[in-house]
Amino acid sequence: MRKVRRNDEGWLVFGCPGCGCMHYADQRWTYNGDEEKPTFSPSINVKVGHHPDPPDICHFFVRDGRIEYLSDCTHSLAGQTVELPDIDEF
Ligand SMILES: [Zn+2]
Repeated sequence: MRKVRRNDEGWLVFGCPGCGCMHYADQRWTYNGDEEKPTFSPSINVKVGHHPDPPDICHFFVRDGRIEYLSDCTHSLAGQTVELPDIDEF
């Protein structure tokens, strides 16, 4: 199974269990090219909330097929590391 795919613009797409939605990474991130055990760097910081309210934050590393949430995430998986979901099933 693959955990990441590319959309029509060439962005990397993967599912986020913390937010329950997809997140994206473009060419600014390095990618190891492994769909089953993807690693991106540097970390990804997504502002999930809606302007102008204070943003919900999803901040994480993707390493070796796992998503490592940092402690400043505003969802319940803050500080935890979980497997990235199958992108075709997400
Ligand atoms: Zn997220």
